[in-house]
Amino acid sequence: RLSDKLQDVFKDLRGHGRISEKNITDALRDVRMALLDADVHFQVAKDFIARVKDKAMGEEVLRSVTPGQQIVKIFHDELTTLLGGDAAPLNLTKPARILVVGLNGAGKTTSSAKLARLLKSQGRAPQLIACDLHRPAAIAQLATLAEQVGVPVYQPQAGETDVLKVGREAVAWCDQTPGDVQIYDTAGRQDLDEPLIEELRRLKEFLQPQEILIVCDAATGQQAVNVAEKFHAALGLTGIILTKLDGDARGGAALSLREVTKQPIKFAGVGEKIEQFEQFYPDRLAGRILGMGDVVSLVEKAAEVINEDDARRMEEKLRKASFDLEDFLQQFRMLKRMGPLQNVLGMLPGMANLKGSSIDEGQLKRVEAIILSMTPQERTRPDILNARRRQRVARGSGTTVTEVNNLILRFTQMRKMMKNMGQMKKLMAQARKGG
Ligand code: GDP
Ligand code: MG
Repeated sequence: RLSDKLQDVFKDLRGHGRISEKNITDALRDVRMALLDADVHFQVAKDFIARVKDKAMGEEVLRSVTPGQQIVKIFHDELTTLLGGDAAPLNLTKPARILVVGLNGAGKTTSSAKLARLLKSQGRAPQLIACDLHRPAAIAQLATLAEQVGVPVYQPQAGETDVLKVGREAVAWCDQTPGDVQIYDTAGRQDLDEPLIEELRRLKEFLQPQEILIVCDAATGQQAVNVAEKFHAALGLTGIILTKLDGDARGGAALSLREVTKQPIKFAGVGEKIEQFEQFYPDRLAGRILGMGDVVSLVEKAAEVINEDDARRMEEKLRKASFDLEDFLQQFRMLKRMGPLQNVLGMLPGMANLKGSSIDEGQLKRVEAIILSMTPQERTRPDILNARRRQRVARGSGTTVTEVNNLILRFTQMRKMMKNMGQMKKLMAQARKGG
């Protein structure tokens, strides 16, 4: 994975007190390979590296006390820019029509419903319109999802083939149904062909949508980029919905999509469930790619299941990296409440690497048992856990010394990661203030 490789490179850079031009050149070569491996378009990778190099070679960076961290910051900023800079909101000026397009299986229907749910949660009144007349089950699929999110849906007659007629009827229906945003789910194809483009062009002509969003499957990498480029040439896209970011997708698609279409990624699909969909924040993905962990989303997610005070305290701890085994346990318990572990683990600093490897619910119970078998003093100062104490803890928790050792190791690694991250944050805050 791209993030893993970049992490390795940065680990090296962070380690250096002084950095030479050669260090930078070597590191950038590695980064470029990692980007190409991750399916980033070669021109995009080349330009990106050139920009980073230009800034990294600056005197102030090389002479500074912490050149490694400065360079990581340059990477972070350039990645954020590459991903689109600021979050891009939807244009919802009346009549606020959103045309959702893309290939078959990209996630159009699912994303249409997810977007409706998100907008509804923001106080909007979305309406869903089924315009995929090619696949027999498509209309019913959207209707089911619409019911699930509690949003009105326009369903054309079965057997209808004229998409323009459907468009006209849908607009009339929208006029008579309470709502302020119209989301049109359209047909896709296996590959992009002229008849599909023609159909979408006519629909666009009639609807004059404020937004034309292409849905791209992150897992399809460079192919998604080519498809988006063609759709953009034919229809004039206004944004991108990047789906299946939860999978093993290589990060490259996200980086190239923006650069090639010049359109912002507006939303990200991060799972099959209807609520696994979010506004796309470039700087957060940049952070995640750099392996710093997405603290902001984690805290936001946490806030949904725990009360605000807890969230604030946890964020404080994450930032200051002053957490101990007690907090470690709290965190594990919180993860449990947050649902499927894999979703959340990737957001934790240093946990991206462990993702999917060794943590499951059973292990969570053992982690609990081990930490609960420690004295309060041992929990706050794990360094006093010598061999004899570890043996006692293992016996008390019904685990083995190896398991106890592993847990302490993992905790130590995590704390180190968080410390790095805390320094990063401080540095960035200073940089933003112009200091
Ligand atoms: P369409 O043909 O473009 O309308 O695609 P669908 O909306 O029918 O989605 C195709 C499949 O992709 C379905 O099984 C969805 O559940 C799945 N899917 C869509 N978005 C995501 C996502 O963000 N993550 C994951 N894991 N699956 C997704
Ligand atoms: Mg569909």
